[in-house]
Amino acid sequence: MNLKLDVHCHTIASGHAYSTILEMVSRAKAIGLELIALTEHGPAMPSGANLLYFNNLKVLPSIIDGVEVLKGAEVNITDYNGGLDLPEETLKRLDFVIASFHDACLEAGSIEDHTNALINIMKRPYIHMIGHPGNPYFSIDIPRIVQAAKETGTILEINNSSLKPNSFRFGSKENCFNILKECMAQQVPIALGSDAHITFDIANFTHSLEMIKALDVPEELILNTSVDLFKAALYKKSNFTKI
Ligand SMILES: [Zn+2]
Ligand SMILES: [Zn+2]
Repeated sequence: MNLKLDVHCHTIASGHAYSTILEMVSRAKAIGLELIALTEHGPAMPSGANLLYFNNLKVLPSIIDGVEVLKGAEVNITDYNGGLDLPEETLKRLDFVIASFHDACLEAGSIEDHTNALINIMKRPYIHMIGHPGNPYFSIDIPRIVQAAKETGTILEINNSSLKPNSFRFGSKENCFNILKECMAQQVPIALGSDAHITFDIANFTHSLEMIKALDVPEELILNTSVDLFKAALYKKSNFTKI
């Protein structure tokens, strides 16, 4: 499978990542990627990027050394009533927005709390993707989330970092497996994110691909196979108006 893009990358702006934008782009180019999304952690994450960082992303070229760079964010979900740690006017100006639960920012609630919060957030046109929905600390009702993803055009991520044996989100494997199976059943596309915090991890989808192979997920459901396919999904989401 020829994968052209990575939708989830962090640089030193996230405070606990180790490479610069230029280092990330250089690596992306070297391994043949056409696009990477820079998705720094929002301000509620200890050491996350601040509001001005996101508001000033206009200074960053959209193409650097032949690699398309999406100006994005990984915003933190800060409560179960739809709270996010960046304002709507900032999010609307970004190319790509991931919304994620992180245990550094929010205590776990019930499956019902997590599921309802995500469905509420997915209804917003400027939220393109839910990050690591397989995190067992924030368990979800998978069929309901996949159905909401379908209805709102929101992308669900299969996060490779969560599947590593030393992951903070240990136990994600079974959930990711079930998310993929449900996405196949409901014909909902997914995106692979490396969640790279250093250049060497860009487009590291090793564990995700093992699962995709085992389940025989069709290529057309994997948005990383084509920049055009991925952008069409973003366009569709931006034009989503109602559920
Ligand atoms: Zn991080
Ligand atoms: Zn995350």
